[in-house]
Amino acid sequence: MLAAVEAGGTKMICAVARDPATILHQTSIPTTAPGETIAAMVAFFRAAGEGKVQAIGIGCFGPLDLEPTSPGFGAITRTPKLGWSGVNLRRALSEAVRCPAVIDTDVAASGIAEAAFGAGQGLRSMAYVTVGTGIGGALIRDGQPLCGLTHPEMGHIRPRRHPQDRFAGVCPFHGDCLEGLASGAAVFARRGQMLSEINPDDVLWEVLSDYLGQFCATLVLMASPQRIVIGGGVPDSNPGLFALVRRSTRASLGEYVQAAVLSDAIDSYIVPPALGAHAGLVGALMLAQRAQAHEGSSQRSR
Ligand code: ZN
Repeated sequence: MLAAVEAGGTKMICAVARDPATILHQTSIPTTAPGETIAAMVAFFRAAGEGKVQAIGIGCFGPLDLEPTSPGFGAITRTPKLGWSGVNLRRALSEAVRCPAVIDTDVAASGIAEAAFGAGQGLRSMAYVTVGTGIGGALIRDGQPLCGLTHPEMGHIRPRRHPQDRFAGVCPFHGDCLEGLASGAAVFARRGQMLSEINPDDVLWEVLSDYLGQFCATLVLMASPQRIVIGGGVPDSNPGLFALVRRSTRASLGEYVQAAVLSDAIDSYIVPPALGAHAGLVGALMLAQRAQAHEGSSQRSR
């Protein structure tokens, strides 16, 4: 049996499954103090897994230490989430449940799931972006998330300002980076309203789509993914945002990059996720499969 966690700042969605397509048990645990939250997760895995969990996959909010040679490998690094900086979910779950565990960012987990079973099926490369309370993204190539120095932090690039936008931005590190200007947290700081309360005709959507279009254009110029998948609370709040973002992407590129999907077929290039809210958990189960395969191969070589 496999176990998976979609670890978020407000809740931990946990599952026990036979494989990524067959979830047997699922629960949601509120993210409170780390000790309390981890104890509840371990109790769920022990009970639901009946002692048969062979590997755990974790898709986690970041930033994460993903350098295998680092002493803090697998730990959450500098998060504003109270008490969670330095917490090593991978190690804690692996030790308590007594099985190997693999951790990656929540966007990388969702990205590998969308690449395998969702909107990126059949493509060699894809970008997966989530625009919710924060903004994050992963580049997936041949089923693997791009990772090097650390995982990408593409939500913090700096877009050119929309001419009518005077908002200072909410990112504690950069102020007016993309996340600081166009995330759900930025919308709330701008208006004192949740995204779902913003009228679809509001000019704010034009401003947000300008920034998100610049971001998609940057992805095209930097990494040339074969598709860009955008999920998260912001596009969910207004499905009309996609048309605006596609237009803004084309405007930002200025017809420089020659590819049919960037003109006539851009509706099939910048798309919503196909797995919806399930992508994170499916991706975490795929990470668990990788942990299991890795364990199997290292046992064979012993
Ligand atoms: Zn930032």
